[in-house]
Amino acid sequence: TSFRHGLRRASSLKEGAFGYSGQLFRYAKGPISEGAGTEGDWGSSLRKLSIINPTSGDATFMKEIIMGYQGEMSLKGLNRNQFEAAMMKILRYRLKTVGRFKVYCTQSTFYMEPEEEDVDMDLAFERVSKVFGLAALSRAVVCEKDFDTICQTAEDYLGSELHGIRTFKVEARRADKTYPMTSPELMRELGAYLLGKHNYLKVDVHNPQFKVIVEIRDYGAYIHGPKIPGEGGLPVGTSGRALNMLSGGIDSPVAAYRMAKRGLALDHIHFASPPYTSERAKLKVKALAQLITVYTGSANLFVVPYTKPQEYIRDNAPDVLFTVLMRRSMMRIANVIAKKQGCEALVTGESLAQVASQTVKALQCTDAAQDLPILRPLIGMDKTEIIETSRHINTFETSILPYEDCCTIFTPPHPKIRPELEEILAAEAAMPGLAALEAEAAEQTERIRVRITDQVEFEG
Ligand code: ATP
Ligand code: MG
Repeated sequence: TSFRHGLRRASSLKEGAFGYSGQLFRYAKGPISEGAGTEGDWGSSLRKLSIINPTSGDATFMKEIIMGYQGEMSLKGLNRNQFEAAMMKILRYRLKTVGRFKVYCTQSTFYMEPEEEDVDMDLAFERVSKVFGLAALSRAVVCEKDFDTICQTAEDYLGSELHGIRTFKVEARRADKTYPMTSPELMRELGAYLLGKHNYLKVDVHNPQFKVIVEIRDYGAYIHGPKIPGEGGLPVGTSGRALNMLSGGIDSPVAAYRMAKRGLALDHIHFASPPYTSERAKLKVKALAQLITVYTGSANLFVVPYTKPQEYIRDNAPDVLFTVLMRRSMMRIANVIAKKQGCEALVTGESLAQVASQTVKALQCTDAAQDLPILRPLIGMDKTEIIETSRHINTFETSILPYEDCCTIFTPPHPKIRPELEEILAAEAAMPGLAALEAEAAEQTERIRVRITDQVEFEG
């Protein structure tokens, strides 16, 4: 309604007030590929895309929308509707605190249309660009489908992007097959119009510096620049739910990100051993859980008071087996919490041979402690690769703040690198009091709700 037929551009005089105003390139080259940016960096510029009606002089607003393109959305074509429904629910939830949006899906594309003016589209875009299940996104304007309007709108919205470059190309697609112009005609004619406005430009169909894309759909013409890569993956929740073992380190937030990407909804469990571990260490873990809600969505963080089982193992087991025994004990408790929460797997940040408890032999012993599958998405990754992802998801700076973890206290100087399951079972048989302490710890576990809308409070 706010976008009227036949409006003329009034933008050429007000350079920079229109179109992507450079934002597109910040998304494309900056934080998306290199690691997430900060809120303030992205959400600050509220742009009004106004055009002036030449006869009435009224300012109206171009309606800018976000389009999300499906990636790998279905298990070989099955369940497509379920995937799309899940996706729309997630997108609606992410946008709820940004403004009123209409979210719908047609022709494998998700549309996010603001239903009020003054919506912060930069913030909206930032939020949905981190939603798993979208292979690519774009920001577009919608206009009426007559050719003159398309030309003017393309120039208003994207004209500033055509300054300072030499080659471009127009791409046109017609979902509305009743449209009087064919796609090649549209490309040619719109290309000619834009060349008329920017006579230094040349068309390069193979390797253009910028693409102007027009899609003629039933409801209107959608005009946008090049697509921006999304996070890919599958909508969170479509693969079930798992319990992620979250320490304060670099690895486990990355593990959570990787599994959420494959469609798992996650809760987190953290083992704390006060007074050996501090309240600060716990707050740090909470902050990490908070930081990754932009990918995982809201989650529960379960904090297990683990001091007693841990002291008991320290006092009653051979030193060299301490770490593996403790990890088995943690897994058993995680198993209890997971089943209570309807989680079908455990997730850890273990990486093969990173430390003594992550050798194949040690992992075999850990696996045998309980009956849920343990997913270890980092098992084949180098630390440098893990750190790269950690920077991408913006957890690195928090992860490297100093903290004490229960896994690192009481650790023997020379843990056994190839523990045998028999000796582990024998050591456990000599600890008759452990099961009751583990049950008590599970019982006294604290639940902290971590909401995507909450602010990260921890600053180190
Ligand atoms: P991270 O970098 O994530 O802290 P790490 O390099 O410290 O991992 P370990 O201490 O051996 O490795 O732990 C391996 C995995 O065990 C972690 O990635 C995490 O999934 C889990 N884990 C370790 N400590 C805890 C804890 N206190 N609470 C919950 N899970 C933990
Ligand atoms: Mg690790």
